[in-house]
Amino acid sequence: MIIFKQAAALGRYLEKQRSMQQKIGFIPTMGALHQGHLALVKEAQKHTDITVCSIFVNPTQFNDPNDFKKYPNTLDKDIHQLEQTGAHILFLPSVHEMYPQGIHHLEQYDLGYLETILEGAYRPGHFQGVCQVMSRLLQMVNPDDLFMGQKDYQQCMVVQWLLKHLSMPTRFETVATRREADGLAMSSRNMRLPEADRKKAPAIYQVLEHIRRHITAGPLSSLQQEGRSLLEKEGFKVDYISMAAADSLAPIDNWDGKEPVIALVAAFLGEVRLIDNMQVTK
Ligand code: AMP
Repeated sequence: MIIFKQAAALGRYLEKQRSMQQKIGFIPTMGALHQGHLALVKEAQKHTDITVCSIFVNPTQFNDPNDFKKYPNTLDKDIHQLEQTGAHILFLPSVHEMYPQGIHHLEQYDLGYLETILEGAYRPGHFQGVCQVMSRLLQMVNPDDLFMGQKDYQQCMVVQWLLKHLSMPTRFETVATRREADGLAMSSRNMRLPEADRKKAPAIYQVLEHIRRHITAGPLSSLQQEGRSLLEKEGFKVDYISMAAADSLAPIDNWDGKEPVIALVAAFLGEVRLIDNMQVTK
């Protein structure tokens, strides 16, 4: 695996590969890699010739400075795992490389409705940061295919919007969420959970499964309330439990029994914020 720290050198290398008809797949991450990230790399290997993974903990997408400060860093292990998985390139830029003019007064994006709901509402500025970093990464890597996880469902929608906004022909692929044996969605933040909270954390998955098993046409508020109560009983502080149209994330209060529904949860256990989602209809 080749490690690049400079965008210019990476760009030259990829240009050469492209001129040899090599198809480029890109997997952006913030490191502290787990099997969920590696599933993206493996999916990229199925579809492309050169897999480029980036590790960059983007300061502009953290609305909570404490979350940024405590974001796990396991770089040596990450490099080892990427090598074992057969990734070709790791892009490891510094903050200065990504934001040579500094991180203040950056461009803003008009994400409209998408930014007013769920993660957009609870993490003000988060998706601006996602767009700021992704627009730079996309321009630096210029991938044929981009691989991102369903675990960050709304982020997938934001980045698909961004690709259109940038008029990039990049193919976007959403990769299914990888879970621990007890159902907990793999996440870099899981390693910050104390043992007792780690045991409680799969309750989010159980609530999503409960919704999936019990959803019926008609009002969804009582199912939503049941889920919230279940999590609160376990000691979670719930930001939201939402049932929404899978294609637009518009909330669904009264389900027609046909429209594909996605259930989304964000909740704190102690100071660790966990998110997850599941398509709960066929
Ligand atoms: P992050 O490092 O958290 O920014 O995540 C980098 C990419 O990995 C994003 O596209 C995430 O959606 C994806 N990802 C994170 N967790 C998982 C998971 N459990 N399964 C599949 N993809 C994931």
